[in-house]
Parts: sequence; C-alpha cells; structure tokens
Amino acid sequence: MVSQPHLLAGSRGTRVGALAVAHRTAARSTDAGLLVAIAGTLPLLRNGLDRAAAEALVSALLRELAIDAAAIVAGESVIAYQGAGSDHHEPGRPYRMLLTGRALASKRTIVARGSRAVGCAVPSCTMTSGVAAPIESGGKVIGAVVLLRAERRPLAGSVRRGAAAVARFLGEYVQHRAMSGDATEPLRRELARAQRYDTPVSVSVFRAADVPTRPIDSALRGRARAADIVAALDERCAVLIQSDTALPHARVATARLSLWLGEDLGTAITTGIAAYPDHTSDAAGLLSEAMPA
Ligand SMILES: [Zn+2]
Repeated sequence: MVSQPHLLAGSRGTRVGALAVAHRTAARSTDAGLLVAIAGTLPLLRNGLDRAAAEALVSALLRELAIDAAAIVAGESVIAYQGAGSDHHEPGRPYRMLLTGRALASKRTIVARGSRAVGCAVPSCTMTSGVAAPIESGGKVIGAVVLLRAERRPLAGSVRRGAAAVARFLGEYVQHRAMSGDATEPLRRELARAQRYDTPVSVSVFRAADVPTRPIDSALRGRARAADIVAALDERCAVLIQSDTALPHARVATARLSLWLGEDLGTAITTGIAAYPDHTSDAAGLLSEAMPA
C-alpha cells in the first residue's frame, strides 16, 4: 500500500525520461547502433585488446559509421585495419599516417581534412579525411582509434563522436582490466600459506620494452606452469607468483620465461625478482622489490 504512490511516481518519471532520450537519439541513431555493436565485441575483449578484439571493433565501426576505412593502433603498431588502403596499412606494421602520430603525441582527438592533413606515407593513398582519437589508460596514451574517408567533405559528427567514444571505452576497459588483475591479494594469500607451512614464495615481474599488441599477462599465462599465479600490473608488466619455489629455482624459471615471452611478443623483456623469506614477508614490499629497474 505504502509503496504504490512511489511506483506510480517512478513509472511516470521513467516515461518522461524515456521520451527525452528518444527525442535526443532521433538525431543520433548511429550512436545507438555503434553502442550495440561495441557491446557485441566485449566477449572478445576478455583477453585484452588483442588482434581478434581489435578486428571485431574495426568491422563494427565500418558497419555503423559513414567511413571508408577504420584502424586501431596499439603503441606504434597497427593491430587492425579494414577498408580502403588495407593494401599498405597492414596489421603488425608501424602506423603510416601523420594524423595518427599527431593524436598519439598530443593526447587529443585530431580531425584531418585533405590528404596532406591525413598525411599517409604512401602517395597513392586515397584517404582524404579522417579522425584519430587517442586511447588513454592510466594517464598514458597506449594507442589510437583512426577512422578515415576517401572524400574531402567534413566528417559527420557521428564519426568524430564514434572515434572518441570507442577510444575512451578501450582506455577505460584496459585500465579496469589492469586493476582487476592486481597481484597483491593472491600474493598475500600465498605468503600467509608460506609462513604457516614454512615454505618459500617467489615473485617475478616481467616488463615489455614497448606496449605489445597483446598484453604481456596473457602471454605469460600461456607459458607459466599450471600451479603458478599470473596477474597483470598494467599493459607492459605482469607478475608471476611461484609457491614452494626458492629464489635460485625462481631465477632459472624467470630467465627461461623471459626468453619465451620475448619471442612470443617480439619485444625485449626485463625482469625483477624477490622472494620470501629472503627479502620480506610483506606483499607490497615484495612486489616493489621485484619491480625491474
Ligand atoms: Zn594510406
């Protein structure tokens, strides 16, 4: 009885809200389509922003927006490119457009009008306008979303908004993923167990020289033993916790894993290592001791 007036007020409020939203989206129908398309790529992002996830996002962008090509750049490399110009903008290769470089350097969304402003290194490139939005995670630029047209007309607002929104989404997602992979909790658990049973625990941190196309923790997961615990620190760092493993053995395993990771990711890997009881029994202290210089 008491809740009835609240329910009525609630439903009326919702209806007014829905009408207001419907009115706004009438002019932005492509935004809604894009949102649904991006939501569809979320299962692929479970392993981080790898090539498969980037390809799915790029094809969603091509489908939903009035553009001729779309790309996602991670670090300095194109990880996905579809549409016109794919003959010379190849995944796995460094980006080739001035537009992309400007967005990465300035941390701002850049709109280019005219082929000179797009600035492709290949003169025959047909791209004549575009937008590049930087992907930021933890205050750092880790890549860019680039949308292109082979037509010298001003870009539609939905294209500019689309680039910026997808870049923001990817940045937030990558940051969230890095934080949810926090190594402190599992390390605390292992340390408590080690103290109880008087056994050693080793912690290794692996850092990639540049932002890889695939986050380092998924590569490490593929190489670690089943009993090892792997956690992400950020895009470039991953932590390996080895229970019942003393420092000398952990050193050997870390050196071997670092070689394998270097091959898997195609980049130099630096490592640091710390262990209980050799260094400290404090999880945060062990992690900071293990951070590569
Ligand atoms: Zn080009």
